[in-house]
Amino acid sequence: MKPAPFEYHQPHSLGEALALMAQHAGAAKPLAGGQSLIPAMNFRLAMPAVLVDLNRVSELAYVRTSGGELHIGAMTRQAVAERDDAIAQGAPLLRQTMPFIAHAQIRNRGTIGGSLAHADPAAELPAVMVALDARFELRSVKGTRTVRAEEFFTGLFTTAMHADELLVDIGIAAPKQNNRWAFLEVARRHGDYALAGVAVSLALDEKGRCRDVRIAVVSVGDGPELARKAAKALTGEVPSEKVIAEAADIAGNKDINPPGDIHASAAYRRSLTTVLTRRALTKAFAVAISG
Ligand code: FAD
Repeated sequence: MKPAPFEYHQPHSLGEALALMAQHAGAAKPLAGGQSLIPAMNFRLAMPAVLVDLNRVSELAYVRTSGGELHIGAMTRQAVAERDDAIAQGAPLLRQTMPFIAHAQIRNRGTIGGSLAHADPAAELPAVMVALDARFELRSVKGTRTVRAEEFFTGLFTTAMHADELLVDIGIAAPKQNNRWAFLEVARRHGDYALAGVAVSLALDEKGRCRDVRIAVVSVGDGPELARKAAKALTGEVPSEKVIAEAADIAGNKDINPPGDIHASAAYRRSLTTVLTRRALTKAFAVAISG
C-alpha cells in the first residue's frame, strides 16, 4: 500500500524543526530513521498530515560525555551507537544490547531516539533505558523538560511527550563502581522482536552485596517494566545461585502480568522471564559469584 497524502518538511536546524512541530501540533510527526513510521504509514496505521524530517538536523546526532555523564543525541543511528567507544565505556549495557535490535541494515537507518519515541513494548532500548535510569530531554518552542525513562513510557506505543515536543537528548549517568550488567532475550529468530527480554543493571558494594538493582523486562506488558520485587529481594544480598534463583522466580511470577497472544502464552512469557532473569543475573555476576 501507499501512504495517505502528507505535507513534507525538511528542516536544517533544531529551531526550525521545533517551529514546525509547534505550527502543526497534533498533525505533525517527526521522521527519524523511518524504520517503524514508514511501514506504519504504508499500511495506513499512521496517517500524519505533516512529516517533519529530522534527517538534516545534524545537531541531534552526537555521542558525548560531559561531567562523567553520557549524552546521546536522539538522531544517533543505532549502528553508530553499536560501535561507539564512549557508549561502550559509559553504558556497556546499551552497547551489549545493540546487536539484538533488528538487523544491521535496519540499525544503519534506525535511530536511538526513534526507537524510544516509538515505545514498542517488544523493543529492547526502552527497557535498557529504564534499567539505566536514563533521563530524556524533551524540547518544544516553549522550553525544555527532563523526564526519567520510567516515567516517559506511559503505555502501548505511548509516551509522556506532548504533540509539539521532540525527544532531543538521552542522558545516562556514569556507571557506578563495581557495576554489573547484562541483557538477554528470546526471539523466534535473531533480529525479531523479543518474546521476552531482561535488562539488568546493578552494583556491588565493598562487601560484595547488591545495591542499586534495576531489572527491566521487555515484551511482558504495555511497555518496559521494572521488576521491583525481584530487585528488592536482591538488594543487600551477596550473589549466590540461591539468591539469583529466588529473585528470578519473583521476577517471572510476582512482578509481571504478561499478556498471551499469537506469539506466546502468558505462562510461556512468565517462564521465559524467570529463566532470562536467572541467566542475566548469572551473566552479570560471572566474575563475582561465590557459590
Ligand atoms: P521512525 O520510524 O522514523 O519513527 C518512529 C516513531 O518515533 C514515529 O512516531 C516518529 O514520529 C517518532 N519519533 C522519531 N524520532 C523522534 C524524536 N526525536 N522525537 C519525537 N518523536 C520521534 N526495533 C527493536 O527495538 N527491536 C527489533 O527487534 C526490531 N526489529 C525490526 C525489524 C524490522 C524488519 C524493522 C523494519 C524494524 C525493526 N525494529 C526493531 C524497529 C527499528 O528499531 C526502528 O528503527 C525503531 O523502532 C524506530 O526508529 P526510527 O529511527 O526508524 O524511527
